[in-house]
Amino acid sequence: MNKKGQLIIISGPSGCGKGSVINKLLEEDKNIILSISMTTRDKRFNEIDGKDYLFVSRDVFMSKISKNEFIEYAKYCNHFYGTPKEFIQKNINLGKTVILEIEVNGALQIKKNFFGATFIFFMPPSLKVLEDRLINRNTETLEKITSRLKTAIEEIKISHNYDFVLTIDTVDNSCYNLLSIINSLNFKYENSKKIIYEVLKNA
Ligand code: 5GP
Repeated sequence: MNKKGQLIIISGPSGCGKGSVINKLLEEDKNIILSISMTTRDKRFNEIDGKDYLFVSRDVFMSKISKNEFIEYAKYCNHFYGTPKEFIQKNINLGKTVILEIEVNGALQIKKNFFGATFIFFMPPSLKVLEDRLINRNTETLEKITSRLKTAIEEIKISHNYDFVLTIDTVDNSCYNLLSIINSLNFKYENSKKIIYEVLKNA
């Protein structure tokens, strides 16, 4: 019986520290991999095409939608973001734990269409801390920060759709808690069928 991998969906307001926690997680556990999303937004000065995102034009993105190449996609602050399907299917079948770091509308699409995914919401300690982090990050204009804070409030309002809510304090602590959640999934009933089969086979 081949064990399939886990699909973990992580959402949380822009600037809450998702990137740093996930990067640490990937260092800690090499069986965990991150899906690289496609986006139509401009590349930031510190980002690498093909590593942080696959940066594409709106035309390319639209053509991928029409060919049904995304497991989900959404418009966020005027830009499109989507998760390429092929990478996810291949790695889940290889038994990998695949992380999707996506906004809430995309997460809800997966909840509707993909049975067995786990949904984790990253919560900032407060809106003030979130605002300070966005300002200190120095990657967005003040206008864009205001728009992202407004979106953050709407996102937090629908965090009840998630299985877990993780407050992001320090990177180390949050990574430890995230890893504990992911490891606990191995003990869920549907992931223990092989063990149950082995124990009972000579009964
Ligand atoms: P940013 O522009 O700050 O990199 O990302 C903006 C938002 O888009 C974040 O909330 C991020 O989680 C989300 N996002 C990134 N990739 C995807 C994706 O493939 N699908 C969806 N639905 N959201 C994404």
